[in-house]
Amino acid sequence: KWARPEKTISTVCPYCGVGCRMKLGVEDERIVSIAPDREGPVNRGQLCVKGRFGLDEIVHHPDRITTPLIRRNGRFEEATLEEALDLVARRFSEIRDEYGPDSLGALSSSRCTNEENYLVQKLARAVFGTNNVDNCARVCHAPSVTGLAACFGSGAATNSFDQIEDADVLFVIGSNTTEAHPIVGLKVIKAANKGTKIIVADPRKIELVDRAKVWLNLRPGTNIALLNGMMNVILREGLEDGEFIASRTEGFEEFRKVVDGYTPERAAEITGVPAADIVEAARLYASAEKAMIIYSLGMTEHVTGTANVISLGNLAMLTGNVGRRSTGVMPLRGQNNVQGACDMGALPNNHVGYQPVTDARVRSKFEEAWGVRLPADPGLTSTEMLERLAEGRGIRGLYILGEDPAQTDPDTNRVRSSLEALEFLVVQEIFPTETTKYADVILPAASFAECDGTFTNGERRIQRVNRAIPPLGGLANWETICLIAQKMGYPMSYADPSEIMDEISSLAPIFAGVSFSRLGGLGLQWPCPSIDHPGTETMHLGCFSRGLGKFNPVEHRPPAEETDPDYPLILTTGRRREHYNCGSMTRRSKGIMWVWPEETIEISPADAEDLGIEDGETVLVRSRRGEVRVKARVTEKSSRGVAFLSFHYANVLTNLLTNAALDPVAKTPEYKACAIRVEKV
Ligand code: SF4
Repeated sequence: KWARPEKTISTVCPYCGVGCRMKLGVEDERIVSIAPDREGPVNRGQLCVKGRFGLDEIVHHPDRITTPLIRRNGRFEEATLEEALDLVARRFSEIRDEYGPDSLGALSSSRCTNEENYLVQKLARAVFGTNNVDNCARVCHAPSVTGLAACFGSGAATNSFDQIEDADVLFVIGSNTTEAHPIVGLKVIKAANKGTKIIVADPRKIELVDRAKVWLNLRPGTNIALLNGMMNVILREGLEDGEFIASRTEGFEEFRKVVDGYTPERAAEITGVPAADIVEAARLYASAEKAMIIYSLGMTEHVTGTANVISLGNLAMLTGNVGRRSTGVMPLRGQNNVQGACDMGALPNNHVGYQPVTDARVRSKFEEAWGVRLPADPGLTSTEMLERLAEGRGIRGLYILGEDPAQTDPDTNRVRSSLEALEFLVVQEIFPTETTKYADVILPAASFAECDGTFTNGERRIQRVNRAIPPLGGLANWETICLIAQKMGYPMSYADPSEIMDEISSLAPIFAGVSFSRLGGLGLQWPCPSIDHPGTETMHLGCFSRGLGKFNPVEHRPPAEETDPDYPLILTTGRRREHYNCGSMTRRSKGIMWVWPEETIEISPADAEDLGIEDGETVLVRSRRGEVRVKARVTEKSSRGVAFLSFHYANVLTNLLTNAALDPVAKTPEYKACAIRVEKV
């Protein structure tokens, strides 16, 4: 019999960066219902399948880690919290004292609150004494930060999700929006229904192709050639916004020289997209009054990730499509708080609010606030930490909160060797994962339903996360971090997460006007520089964050690994609508597993025929780094020569195959293009 739950708590979905609000119904300290929050500023009463179904089952799943575990003689044994935290503090202190502060590192979590991320980086900097701290943006959207900052001076989304519906043209590139960010996908579909013209650039026939006026079916890793080709057309046909270029930008002439070399015919040769389609897309985008770019990891997870994003900034500035409503460049963030993890300084080069660690004035401000001396050189990125470990150098002790690099980082065999090489690994998690297998100590983590704090979604909106039930492991995540710091001799202590936010706003000018008391209802979009500031829906109005916008010329560069007779197909990877990241949560929902129970490799009918592979047949997929067995799905979604796998399943470790080659600026790996062969078993 249906009954209204004892209480309902409004909070934010723990999955993707759209930031939908949901209401958790609670009875006897158990979540008994989940419903969309009609007041949610982004979702307005909608949730996708992941947010709507199964979260109650996941939060209370019997696999939850609720007791600390210590590895003894190769086996995990249950321990008290006191015992586990004493060991963590002692071993980290010993390693720091014997080998120096940079022998330690921390990987913070894009699934955790802003306050928890702030404390992890504070633990690394003020207690460990190192800038070796990072978060999973490194393997997804770090190029958005470096690329957009190079163009505009700020590395975040320029506009708001609500403005999507009023754009005249939406250019969706490298984003399978309806699957990876379904509620934003609905906004794109609603816009299309109202007459907005859609351009899709994607190597797969994603769902939005059916809504598109033009589909630019490019080869993986050729985004720059495509965009330079479009900009060549715009300039040749005089469709650029000369006034915007003259009054608001710099670097145009140098940029133009490079773009002049990318005729649509040359771009067509590199990308595989017919020149006529490149011309049509260019005219469509440049002729719109309001054109908005939506992109995601199809742009960033390449060795040219930063250059790809810069190219989008160039296109927006060339046509004056930035600094106004319903224009701009919108990176869609993967994990729910990947924006916040970066904002909070869980980065090796920046303190909270993107204040460089190399700036002496910034450093002395934090030294005074925290009462310690701070390191002046940028630390290692997460990819560099693992790379150096694999080479037998670098860090010796690592604290990982809520991330699973042993499944989600590329070239998994190498990641496993790196984790094995650590002297001491602490993983704080809600479920056993591939990474917890390598831990020396596993600490219980609190799930989103057990947390108080804030998340920041992909449009820079800081929203309150409200605790629905007490932490199943006994402590909130921020309390655990404080205890580690205290046991290492540093007085880290707060009454509650609102005090942590107060410290954040006192130290970071872009959050100076943010406090829990102002975050009811709609939340606040940063920058929010004072307590009477309403937050920022649209950035770069009248002036870019860096003053003038900067055109940066970029040249096409092929993927690090190209196909050859031994490995003739390109593998590109991504997400399924039903699953989240490493799948440690969604694979524990019976309902979600009923809808999408197993991984399949998607290959085109033409490739399947060449290989003699039937739909549903198990195949062996090999790259130069590893192999997996998986069922084949023969589908028109895949173009000839391009195969697709998600990375949600531990029994099909897709990242055994992927390439760890890095973007030289953002140090983000190239998940979106590696060479494979598919064989009958
Ligand atoms: Fe919204 Fe993303 Fe959660 Fe789906 S997964 S409900 S789109 S926040």
